[in-house]
Amino acid sequence: MSKIFVKNLSNKEPTKDITQDDIKYKIPLVTSSKKRIIKINSKISFSEKHIPIIAGPNGVESRELIFKVGKFLKKNGLKILRGHAFKPLTFPYRSKQYLETQFEGMDWLDEVKRHLKLAIVTEVTEIKFLDRICLTADILQIGSRNMQNLELLKEVAKTYKPIILKRHFGASLRDLLGAAEHILLEGNDKLILCERGITAPHTHRATSRFILDVQAISALKELVKFPVISDPSHASFWAPYVPGLAYASIAANCDGLIIETHPNPSKSAVDPLQPLNFNQFKKFLDTSKKISKIFNKKII
Ligand code: PEP
Ligand code: MN
Repeated sequence: MSKIFVKNLSNKEPTKDITQDDIKYKIPLVTSSKKRIIKINSKISFSEKHIPIIAGPNGVESRELIFKVGKFLKKNGLKILRGHAFKPLTFPYRSKQYLETQFEGMDWLDEVKRHLKLAIVTEVTEIKFLDRICLTADILQIGSRNMQNLELLKEVAKTYKPIILKRHFGASLRDLLGAAEHILLEGNDKLILCERGITAPHTHRATSRFILDVQAISALKELVKFPVISDPSHASFWAPYVPGLAYASIAANCDGLIIETHPNPSKSAVDPLQPLNFNQFKKFLDTSKKISKIFNKKII
C-alpha cells in the first residue's frame, strides 16, 4: 500500500500513551469497534468464548522432539503446536545444539501437521523465507524483535494468513498498535496481539529478563476488539512462574496463551529454564480449564 494522506493528521503533541487524536487519525483500523473472531479452521477460533493454548518448544530442534510434543498436545486435547524453525537470537554465535533447523525444520512441522492434524504457529524472520513458511503455517508469528520491521510486516500481511504480532519488550502500546495498523492497512484483518513481557528495573530473579505486563492485556482490551493473547513463558523465563502468570492473564481476560513445553526442559537448546515439562503442563492445563470456566471461556 502506498502512502495514505490523512487530513488533520497532526504531530503537535506526540505522546507515549494513546490520545483520542491517535485513535482518530493514526490507529483508526486497529481501534475500530467491529467485533473480531479470528477463525483458524473449523475447530479453532480466537473469540470471546475461547482461550486457545498455543504450546510447544522454543525451536524445532529435531523431528523427534516436535513429534513428541505434538503427540502430547493431541493427547491432551490441544490443537495448536508452536515451534520455530527460523529464530532470531540475541547473539549471532551458534553451536551444534544452538542452531536454526530452517527448511528441514519446516519439513518436520509439515509432517507433524499432516499426521496429527494440528495447526502450526511459527515465526517469520525474513521475507525470503515467507513462501516456504506459508506452505505449512496456519498462523504466522512476528516476534518481538521484528515488531516494527515494517517491510516484513507488510509482506507478511499480504499473505492474508492470521498473524500473531508480539509486542516488543521496550515498546508502548501506542507503538504496538501503530505496527498493527500497518498490517491492517494491507487488508489483512486476521490480527492477534500478544503481550510477552517488558523490560523493568527489577524482575525479582536474576534469570528473568522481562516482566509480564498483565495490565497491558486489560489496556489493550479497552482499546481494541482483536484478540489479545499472553506469553508468560517469554516474559518470565522461569517455569515456576509461568502457570501463575497464565492464570492471571486468564483473569485479565486474555484470548489465548503461548506456553512453552518440552519433554526435557534442561535439554532445550534455547531458554531451558522456561518450558514446562509434561507433568507441569498437565497440571497447568487442568487448573486453566477450571479458571477459564469461571470467566465463561473455554480452553481449546
Ligand atoms: C518465541 O516466541 O519463541 C520468541 C522468541 O518470542 P519473542 O519474540 O517474544 O521473544
Ligand atoms: Mn522462545
